[in-house]
Amino acid sequence: MTATAPTAPTALTTSTILKIVQAGHPVLRQKARPLSPDEIRGPDVQRIIEAMRETMRDAPGVGLAAPQVGLGLQLVVIEDKPAYVERGDPDEMRARGRTPVPFQVLVNPRLNIVDATPVEFFEGCLSVTDMMMVVPRLRAVRVEALDHTGSPISLSADGWPARILQHEIDHLRGVLCIDRMLSRTFMSTRNYGQWWANTPVPDVLRAVAVTEAPDAPLSSATGPGGA
Ligand code: ZN
Repeated sequence: MTATAPTAPTALTTSTILKIVQAGHPVLRQKARPLSPDEIRGPDVQRIIEAMRETMRDAPGVGLAAPQVGLGLQLVVIEDKPAYVERGDPDEMRARGRTPVPFQVLVNPRLNIVDATPVEFFEGCLSVTDMMMVVPRLRAVRVEALDHTGSPISLSADGWPARILQHEIDHLRGVLCIDRMLSRTFMSTRNYGQWWANTPVPDVLRAVAVTEAPDAPLSSATGPGGA
């Protein structure tokens, strides 16, 4: 998931930055495989974890799933730095329930619903680059997983951290935010910043709502190569 707030360009300091694949790459639509505790502790997965952390920070993002770097593994890293949260408008950060999340590795995560109330905010994805969309997410979740040492951990989260967890764990099942988005809110990050960043989401939804039914049903729209 993207960090959202604009940042200064970061210096290239390491060669461990991985290529982030974009929507359309088959790996983003496949179910990732679980890792054994022995695999997690092995040098290969430890190197992948290190590289994913650097790649997430370089992007910058607040979460990265292994399929996004072309690896069909049930492995996620998350981190929402205090600096990212402090850069945002305080009222907006409060409304989103956005609080810092320390760096965490999640392997083979299982998502449990704590509060199924839908919460609607704009989000973005490093694999749907430079686009934003409103995605309904559950208000609160609990995640059972293994950490970077292969030990069981349990994380409870609500607000923005719960959104990050749902977004990243979706990646492990081949689900993207564009599958869950309110499609009429799909827009470039540039236009989000220019037109909508300071608009409450309910007002955005009203502003982009269908005002007139299209002449032809949308489901009959032509496929690839069509007009
Ligand atoms: Zn994503």
